[in-house]
Amino acid sequence: MKDQFQEWEATELYCPRCKAARPVRKRLLLVLPDGDKYEYLCAQCGSPVGGKMDEKPGNFQFLIK
Ligand SMILES: [Zn+2]
Repeated sequence: MKDQFQEWEATELYCPRCKAARPVRKRLLLVLPDGDKYEYLCAQCGSPVGGKMDEKPGNFQFLIK
């Protein structure tokens, strides 16, 4: 149990399809130079219920060359 709670993670979000708060599954959607984009899917019905961007502030040099 270390490094696990350093950043906010959604575990439950409101699902419009289930019309209730549901546990979510995190899925990596895109890997970009400035961060990874994640999507949250309802564990019950699989509908997308939210997203998140994990920014990598140290990586901006990547773009400067
Ligand atoms: Zn749902």
